[in-house]
Amino acid sequence: MKQTRISPKHPRAESLRIRERLVEQFSNGVVTAAGLLAHGRGEAFDYLLGEKTSPIALKAMKAAAALLLTAEHPVISVNGNAAGLAAEDIIKLAKQVDAKIEVNLFHRSLDREKALEKLLKHAGATQVLGVGEASSATIPEIASDRRRVDPRGILIADVVLVPLEDGDRAEALVKMGKRVIAIDLNPLSRTAKFASVTIVDNIVRAFPSLTRIVEKLRTEDKKRLKKLLDQFDNGRNLSEAIEMIEKRLEHLAQKSQKGSHLTVLEEQDA
Ligand code: ATP
Repeated sequence: MKQTRISPKHPRAESLRIRERLVEQFSNGVVTAAGLLAHGRGEAFDYLLGEKTSPIALKAMKAAAALLLTAEHPVISVNGNAAGLAAEDIIKLAKQVDAKIEVNLFHRSLDREKALEKLLKHAGATQVLGVGEASSATIPEIASDRRRVDPRGILIADVVLVPLEDGDRAEALVKMGKRVIAIDLNPLSRTAKFASVTIVDNIVRAFPSLTRIVEKLRTEDKKRLKKLLDQFDNGRNLSEAIEMIEKRLEHLAQKSQKGSHLTVLEEQDA
């Protein structure tokens, strides 16, 4: 596919590059049309967050790292957008915490599952669960195809990392007694609310940061990791993320009244 040239001087260059990557993976059958729209919802929130990782997200990453490092059977659940945007980074993290990687799609087809498997293996995965007949188990209470899971993966997992989840499945996984880590730019989504730990950040930035934090914490003893987890309150963290957006918008509204023509993103440090 012919790539559109993006000027590095464009104020939205990084965001446009991410879009290009998704459009390319749409042509490869990894991402669906609905996935492109879901990305748009995420982009809008990223714009409000200033397109950078906040201290609030970093706090959630610490708790997520503690969960992953103390898990018996961690699994990273991968859908089209996650694979399309962050395949290499997902694999780095999986290797670091010895997590399984499982394909789990809302719009399921064998061709798509195989396209994701190919992309993930090309990026360095040695095993990809959940493809075709491998997802022979069922999660109760889910109407969509996402209910089908691999008995070697999500079914027996105690901790599931779900970048870009849908609310129904996040809720069902928690009801099954699993600890769920979500990465979601929207602090208001049902996924964000149902998850045990929600990282309000773009998956493109969150995976490398989370991997760095895991690396730092990996020598800590289990007691200290558990304490870190106990101190984390997901509801409070989400509320801080919403307040952060509110404060930024208030600041920008005041600037705008004074006649400044800066855009929301040019106000990165607001
Ligand atoms: P829910 O069912 O949890 O209420 P939803 O229906 O709003 O979620 P979906 O359409 O299922 O959401 O999935 C899109 C979600 O993924 C949105 O919440 C969006 O903010 C988030 N999202 C999209 N792209 C990214 C990204 N690159 N990084 C992090 N989050 C993203």
